[in-house]
Amino acid sequence: MQAAVKISQLHKQFGNLTALSEVDFEIPKGSFFGLLGPNGAGKSTLINIIAGLVRASSGSVSVMGYDVVRNWRQARQCLGVVPQELVVDPFFTVSEMLRLQAGYFGCKSSAWIEELLEILNLSDKANTNLQELSGGMKRRVLIAQALVHKPDVVVLDEPTAGVDVELRQVLWKFIKQLHENGHTIVLTTHYLEEAEALCEKLAIIDNGKLVALDTKAALLARASDRFLCISLNNSDISNLPSLIKAKVESFIDDQLVLRLHKTQDEIGSILEGLLAANIRFSDLHIKEASLEDVFLSLTGKEKA
Ligand code: ADP
Repeated sequence: MQAAVKISQLHKQFGNLTALSEVDFEIPKGSFFGLLGPNGAGKSTLINIIAGLVRASSGSVSVMGYDVVRNWRQARQCLGVVPQELVVDPFFTVSEMLRLQAGYFGCKSSAWIEELLEILNLSDKANTNLQELSGGMKRRVLIAQALVHKPDVVVLDEPTAGVDVELRQVLWKFIKQLHENGHTIVLTTHYLEEAEALCEKLAIIDNGKLVALDTKAALLARASDRFLCISLNNSDISNLPSLIKAKVESFIDDQLVLRLHKTQDEIGSILEGLLAANIRFSDLHIKEASLEDVFLSLTGKEKA
């Protein structure tokens, strides 16, 4: 099956700085794909090369089979990018800007624009100047702008950054709907819980290199640890045996969390150790490692 985005041996040099090195992977058609990495990893550079805004130093990228340099018109036609920055043109109303954007792509149907305005709750702002919109509204407009030509591939660069909970829900519902309608979704996000909830497949970039490319399930299975969360009956853990003390991840408000190795640590002997030290508890549960834990172990950094 043809890939939605094919990235081949991509390299980008900014002077002495190597922003991307030997990046080589495919984003499957119809997938919900996450692109993760710490700040400065090279995500925006990669998105900008896919969008044809930055030239690669070597290697190539194609979107729906069209090379982004040689067949840039067709590649652009297949792609919609929702940028991270809320930059809008102050000279137009919402409706004017969307019609102008649709015109660039030769789309004459205003029915789809009306539908986008409706779905994104922008209908009553159609005649408002872009400059007068709130941050959340601008975010919606940028999403509508990326979709006016119904692109096969939609790239969203941190779409929920600085967005309130309500708008975040609206956006995710809409993006899920786009995915169900067959669009390929490529997402970068600060919120790894979001990536974990939504993305089927993920690429992790660090220092310009691809450090992981796998399904979410396979990435989560890479985690070697899990967490034993215990509700203690009192907050005195001074008797904690040293072997258990070494496994303490956190201890807040009588809630003790121990980091256990999935195969090497036995929960039975941990509990026996607690009871032998006269430490009583009322409840316990296991929390499996999250995508964030895997991300941190792969990159050794705080998340992006
Ligand atoms: P991310 O989006 O993952 O935070 P970027 O792609 O923005 O990372 O940046 C990757 C690296 O390339 C960083 O070290 C950044 O400073 C550098 N970089 C990005 N754009 C430019 C540019 N136009 N000129 C010089 N260096 C750049």
